[in-house]
Amino acid sequence: MIYKRSSALFAEAEKVIPGGVNSPVRAFKGVGGTPIFVKEAKGAYLYDEDGNRLIDYINSWGPMILGHAYAPVVNAVVEKAKKGTSFGMPTEIETQIAELAVSMVPNIDKIRFVNSGTEACMSAVRLARGYTGKDKIIKFAGCYHGHSDSFLIQAGSGASTFGTPNSPGVTKGTAKDTLLARYNDIENVKGLIDANKNEIACIIIEPVAGNMGCIPPKDGFLKGLRDLCDANDILLVFDEVMTGFRLAKGGAQQLFNIHADIVCFGKVIGGGLPVGAFAAKNEIMNHLAPLGPVYQAGTLSGNPLAMAAGLAMLTELNNDAEIFNRLAKKTEYLHQGVSKVLIENNITHTINRTGSMISVHFDEGHVVDFETAAKGNNDTFKKFFHGMLHEGVYIAPSAFETWFITDALSYEDLDFTIAAVNTVLKTL
Ligand code: PMP
Repeated sequence: MIYKRSSALFAEAEKVIPGGVNSPVRAFKGVGGTPIFVKEAKGAYLYDEDGNRLIDYINSWGPMILGHAYAPVVNAVVEKAKKGTSFGMPTEIETQIAELAVSMVPNIDKIRFVNSGTEACMSAVRLARGYTGKDKIIKFAGCYHGHSDSFLIQAGSGASTFGTPNSPGVTKGTAKDTLLARYNDIENVKGLIDANKNEIACIIIEPVAGNMGCIPPKDGFLKGLRDLCDANDILLVFDEVMTGFRLAKGGAQQLFNIHADIVCFGKVIGGGLPVGAFAAKNEIMNHLAPLGPVYQAGTLSGNPLAMAAGLAMLTELNNDAEIFNRLAKKTEYLHQGVSKVLIENNITHTINRTGSMISVHFDEGHVVDFETAAKGNNDTFKKFFHGMLHEGVYIAPSAFETWFITDALSYEDLDFTIAAVNTVLKTL
């Protein structure tokens, strides 16, 4: 494949944008080489600036569940844009999407829209602190909840890829209020709670971790957290930025039948436009301004274009009774095919999967937390990544990321991907 134009565009970008990218996860720093510049995308495919076609397993890091440039979403945005792009005043469509989201997700009465997953999680934690009157939070090593200060403590995703899980610029005062736990280790969480009695406002977790590769919760782990929260007046916050409207209509709460006190959503809810949201029961949400004292705001929150895209997207997901099964079946098919060729080629590996989230770790042990995720062979991953790119398959340029399956993928695409994996493995 030729990446001449992408390389030239990257060289230009580097002069005026730090690292040439507006979000670090897009850089190829972890795998070497220069990022691919996208020209357009349709369905399951990306088309880059050099004219290469790539099967996309990033899907804008999750939201393109129905594929790129999905007609009902695009049409909704185009029609809305003709009528004005932002007013900073209430619009009917905000209530329509809120009603739909509240009807789809369990255990929530009200939802507030923001502009990103970062804002959603940051606001959820402020609300949890304001509601409980306590300062400390527990987060899990390797989980990523956006780039607000409290979360850049052993953060996953790009923060781990680039070796900066603890960012300079976060004050010691902020860092000391974030307690760090081990994913899937309930005793570890219990120990932290016992050592910080009556000081913890919330536990925030990705109910299926997607930012250290895909790591499902062990049986009973989420229930264990729920029980600990109930016993200690701690709020359980599910960061469903990746899992919400992807694993099931009602997200991980529905899939695992665990009730969270506050739920955070992100990019899926905007159908690819910049949206996030957080939601809870009235008792908690009524503490938010203007009803209550916890301040949270946004000029572009509930922006009409984003709401139009989101409403079209959620309506499709709500009306298609089979979509989540279909996604899970495609992911299982990919899992089995990739697993078979990995075994045939004698490559040490573990594959983790929940619903339409999947990741391949180049290590044989169970991958259950950040420590075990970090054991994967990064040299093998780098070669694998570039090999797949050469074959026309685009996975995230980091071993700490999840592959997201879209409904636009056909079984031919999945067979093509499995054949590409087989070809690449022979070169490792
Ligand atoms: N939470 C999770 C679980 C995420 O995966 C992400 C982003 N990948 C975020 C929060 C932050 O979202 P955003 O990038 O939209 O700020």
